[in-house]
Amino acid sequence: MTTAPVPPGAARFLRPRGHVIDGRVVPPIGGDTLPVEDPSTGEIFSHIPAGDAGDVAHAVQAARASFNAGTWSRADPAHRGRVLWALARSIRDQAEALAWLETRDSGKPIAEARADITGTAEILEYYAGLASQIFGQTTRVPGNNLGMVLREPAGVVGQITPWNFPLYVGAWKFAPALCCGCSVVLKPSELTSLTLLAAAELALAAGVPPGVFNVVSGTGASAGAALASHPDVDILAFTGGVVTGRKVLHARADLLRPTQLELGGKSPNIIFADADRVQAIAGAAFGIFYNQGENCNAGSRLLVHADIHDEVVAGLIARARAIRVLPPLDEQSQMGALVSAAHARKVAGHVEAAIAEGASLRCGGPAPRQGHFERGHWFLPTVLTDVAPTHRAFHEEIFGPVITVTKFSSDDEAIELANATEFGLAAGVWTADVKRALRCTQELRSGYVWINNYNPTPVEVPFGGVKSSGFGRDCGPQAVDTYTTWKTVLWSLAPFEDWYKH
Ligand code: NDP
Repeated sequence: MTTAPVPPGAARFLRPRGHVIDGRVVPPIGGDTLPVEDPSTGEIFSHIPAGDAGDVAHAVQAARASFNAGTWSRADPAHRGRVLWALARSIRDQAEALAWLETRDSGKPIAEARADITGTAEILEYYAGLASQIFGQTTRVPGNNLGMVLREPAGVVGQITPWNFPLYVGAWKFAPALCCGCSVVLKPSELTSLTLLAAAELALAAGVPPGVFNVVSGTGASAGAALASHPDVDILAFTGGVVTGRKVLHARADLLRPTQLELGGKSPNIIFADADRVQAIAGAAFGIFYNQGENCNAGSRLLVHADIHDEVVAGLIARARAIRVLPPLDEQSQMGALVSAAHARKVAGHVEAAIAEGASLRCGGPAPRQGHFERGHWFLPTVLTDVAPTHRAFHEEIFGPVITVTKFSSDDEAIELANATEFGLAAGVWTADVKRALRCTQELRSGYVWINNYNPTPVEVPFGGVKSSGFGRDCGPQAVDTYTTWKTVLWSLAPFEDWYKH
């Protein structure tokens, strides 16, 4: 086993001394901390500040003051772009340290953590370029008026982010918000806050002014709820589960303030009989097992044409068994540990319920408590077949390395099964037939469709869902819609006509 060594830069971020608020590292007002566990061993290796409503209020106040001061909100967009580019550079410089922290915090394999960090730099580089490309509109309107429609930064933005891709999905939120000139208060998941606290410090060093990018760690029930219900937060952007998303939306409804939600899914991955089998099987395995299946767009429902079902299942099981489930810092690791004991119990409960309902467990399940599986929260790549659309496993988000397989016999049936879910985040289609692929892109009710591919989410194109998967978009120029508002200016080119002149 070759274990990735502790990178020299990691120690600096390993034990955060506080939140990052108003350009300073500040201890939590209440003085409490939360333990940080390595999910692969159960070891408590750090502590983070336990923020509460007081810390959130402090951060929102700092964000509002910086927004009003205009040091960022009214800065030249090109300047904002240069600063975001400098932050991307700094993240690339610190990539090994950040990847190491991410792996210890989340349990994901070091190779996948490195991909997250590179992806984070790419997100920042994209929005660095976009900063000068946010255009308003002008139009002539009746009465010899010129209509100018300005795009303005939306104000103070609250962001609540999940534990599965901590820095990467965090950057999906904070990079476009900063690009647009907003001031941000971000609350990472208490399970994985280290890299986002580090990023806020790096942002300061890169030239983001004090108060513009604040990170407050703490529990969802305390810091998260306080941020969602804070009346001075203009826009709230959230990624997480449906239950919490609903609570956040309730809080925002009371305030009558806009919200962007990304809430996960139960995404179908459809293999038609004409597909390239080798590629489709590889894509099905990657679609569910990447990041331990803790992935909002995981291809968790495999729909396979009856004619090729047995061949695909055999190939998938072989792939699942070959995945190297190893300590995440091992350079050979292809799957790490689940994020927490509670989550591992939840995943195991889903699999038990599926078997009780008639599904067949073909491989996987909880890892035997021996060797490196003795401590930590391990679950093996799992394939469930004979899963019917009436089963809970067909509908409920498991959020672990568990794929369900369901047969279909016609294109109509495949599309009907694919859409038979409350979610609509993503879908995959494997076929050699262009017309079939096009029909699927038209009829699948989801925010993302991969054709002969699964999982890549390049920053250049939007990401988000329909139905219970949420609304609004991360990534692409579309994220600018979340973080800007329109202001209409009507400029008269003619003398003012007095309505009361007669
Ligand atoms: P949550 O939805 O609870 O967590 C997402 C974020 O919301 C975290 O920062 C969390 O903080 C915060 N939060 C929790 N409670 C509140 C609250 N009352 N008000 C405001 N913010 C809050 O995810 P869980 O960890 O509970 O996971 C549950 C399920 O959600 C998973 O099994 C999975 O199905 C789904 N999920 C989907 C994700 C996605 O990418 N779409 C990501 C994560 C989970 P904290 O973690 O500190 O409690």
